[in-house]
Amino acid sequence: MIAKVYGHGGFRKRIVEMGFIKGTEVQVVLNAPLQDPVKYKVMDYEVSLRRAEADMVEVVTQQEAEEWHKQQTATPGIVADDCDFRHAVAEAKGKNILVAFVGNPNCGKTSLFNIAGNAHEHVGNYSGVTVDAKVGNMKFEGYTFNIVDLPGTYSLSAYTPEELYVRKYIIEKTPDVIINVVDASNLERNLYLTAQLIDMDVPMIMALNMYDELRESGHTLDINQLGTLLGVPIIPTVGRTGEGVKPLFHEIIEIYEGKQKTFRHIHINHGVLLEKMIERVEALIRKNPEPHHNYSGRFLAIKLLENDRQVEGIVKMLPNGEEIIKERNNCQDEIKQELDDDSEGAITDAKYGFVQGALKECLVKKTVYKRMLTKRIDAYVTNRYLGFPIFLALMFLTFFCTFTLGQYPMDWIDSGVGWLSDMIGSYMNDGPLKDLLIDGILAGVGGVIVFLPNIMILYAFISWMEDSGYMARAAFIMDKIMHKMGLHGKSFIPMIMGFGCNIPAIMATRTIEDRKSRLLTMLIVPLMSCSARLPVYIIIIGAFFPKHQALTLFAIYLIGIVMSVVMANLFSKFVVKGESSPFVMELPPYRLPSAKSVVRHTWEKGKQYLKKMGTIILAASIVVWALAYFPHHEELSNEQQMEQSYIGQLGKAVEPVISPCGLQWKEGVSLIAGVGAKEIVASTMGVLYATNTEEGAEAEDLEDSSHLSQIIAQSGMTPLTAFAFMVFVLLYMPCLPACIAIKNESGKWRWALFTACYTTSLAWICATLVYQIGALIV
Ligand code: GDP
Ligand code: MG
Repeated sequence: MIAKVYGHGGFRKRIVEMGFIKGTEVQVVLNAPLQDPVKYKVMDYEVSLRRAEADMVEVVTQQEAEEWHKQQTATPGIVADDCDFRHAVAEAKGKNILVAFVGNPNCGKTSLFNIAGNAHEHVGNYSGVTVDAKVGNMKFEGYTFNIVDLPGTYSLSAYTPEELYVRKYIIEKTPDVIINVVDASNLERNLYLTAQLIDMDVPMIMALNMYDELRESGHTLDINQLGTLLGVPIIPTVGRTGEGVKPLFHEIIEIYEGKQKTFRHIHINHGVLLEKMIERVEALIRKNPEPHHNYSGRFLAIKLLENDRQVEGIVKMLPNGEEIIKERNNCQDEIKQELDDDSEGAITDAKYGFVQGALKECLVKKTVYKRMLTKRIDAYVTNRYLGFPIFLALMFLTFFCTFTLGQYPMDWIDSGVGWLSDMIGSYMNDGPLKDLLIDGILAGVGGVIVFLPNIMILYAFISWMEDSGYMARAAFIMDKIMHKMGLHGKSFIPMIMGFGCNIPAIMATRTIEDRKSRLLTMLIVPLMSCSARLPVYIIIIGAFFPKHQALTLFAIYLIGIVMSVVMANLFSKFVVKGESSPFVMELPPYRLPSAKSVVRHTWEKGKQYLKKMGTIILAASIVVWALAYFPHHEELSNEQQMEQSYIGQLGKAVEPVISPCGLQWKEGVSLIAGVGAKEIVASTMGVLYATNTEEGAEAEDLEDSSHLSQIIAQSGMTPLTAFAFMVFVLLYMPCLPACIAIKNESGKWRWALFTACYTTSLAWICATLVYQIGALIV
């Protein structure tokens, strides 16, 4: 029994006309020798379908239906007869709707996705936050929706990875309905994408998002009229509050069930000449049986005229591929002669013309422009003289708050951990288990969990800057400097994101169109100090620089930034060669970030951090503890025991390598352990120094810092070696997951390996310089 018919456009129409409708029975009558085509019996006709076509029809088999029947009859009181239950299965299966959000970057797709799918994906007020398809689902009016958030694109050509990705998704996954999210405050550019989606001939609805801004602007838009002109139902939405999401999904059901009246397929008129050419190419394509890899014939024809490489590849595989390409070339020549423009430009112009025409009919603009506020703020923030000081001040404020505000909750957690440790200490019998709990788990996990508040504060700031639109300005004012380094203004956003976590930052480099800048950015992102390195700094700074906490931290981050500048310069001259492309970057209007979004984003990070604590950090703490505990000799002092343990032996082995940097074996071990995740550097120190507890007396002026800081202050490290250590932690190789991200994004292991090697060498050189030069001065 047919559960669902996929595919769209002419193909779908044809197959439905043949009688392949939800709830109808089909039988396989005959298999051709190679299983292609297959003959079916449907509504007493016999129809033969090619395999590719048959794949577009989802059926429920007798067996599946019986399974379902069994489940149902397990529930008492339900008796279903044979045909009925199969119908019910078909019905249930057919009530799964796959919808995909497609739209320009920054138009609010992810906001809508989060509301609809009750998800917590990252929204940000700049392009390119979403780089992958994110999937969620929800139930509504008896239907189950699988919802997909796709990366933002301006167009559906084959120029950028996002464009190809979105196109491929639409074609291969054939979503039942596409939700074209449109930024109502920027209709012209957004509708250009809509025009291309219309060419694709896919079932579609428009979410007219940012409708609140349109309302406030005083412009009036005749939504019904626009919907009628485009043949696409339009529902106004506000992604930030969720207004309009229910009507949107209600309409989707209507479209899915074929009840929607506005929805129809229109042909965008490209003008007499172009239409004639499109028709000529399309006619040849149509000589082949549908579906042409699921693309509508018209879409293929238009894309061919636009010199789309991917579509050329598809068409060349058709039996009359040669002929089609030849015809395309002829058409292009004619266009060139008549319009004195290449066909690609002519098609783009025609599409914009269509959009402008539609808007002229439906949109009445109010002359006073509401974006005055944005302009006024920008006058300061992107000012030639004020831009940088404002930026630096904001960064400093961030670090300052990370410390001062974070101090209070940090103290609470710290005393909580201390209390727990005391309790176990006084109530448990001595033995390895007690040692494991106190010196292993509590010292390791407890040592880093206290930094949860600091990390959340840091994230709250980053999130606020992203969401308000400031980050895009920061990228803008940095563009000139970035260019000098062979980078791109857009590289700046991944770099700042790197302060949070390097992995999403590396993924965010995808928005940089230019290959060279992209690779360069990826290589230097690891120099941005991620939040996982923060605990080490806080411990060390608390121990050795209690008077200048924020300033020292600022200095460390600054060293990372300076090093990234130096490295980018070197790499663009010697490693990654080639020209970089000019700068195009949008400045989205400022938007007051919704508190909900900032809180949610921050909490997500907090949750991730806690999860890491419970898994990898816990495991690492136990392993490090065990390596430090065995072989165990009760009679030795703590320090001696540690030195002769496995970890002591390992540490001693690496000590010669790091002694020029002023580091000792315990730091060496922490650094090695930190390759798995940078938090482990701190947790390992917690375990390794925990055994000093009994000996360490409380230092007077360190009341404000964590317990661990107080121990480390007595450990024989000096402020100089401590600083060298922080520099090493800052610069040495990124954690393994980040290396894997570099491999995935660059496509080559070579670059991941290169990054690991150069960062570690750089760390060694810089730490050594700090220590050796410092030693001369001090
Ligand atoms: P995406 O790039 O399309 O996924 O867009 P996001 O969902 O990340 O949103 C971009 C920015 O627009 C964020 O700052 C959102 O808070 C904001 N935003 C989203 N929807 C609306 C809306 O309907 N009205 C207003 N005023 N802002 C919105
Ligand atoms: Mg997004």
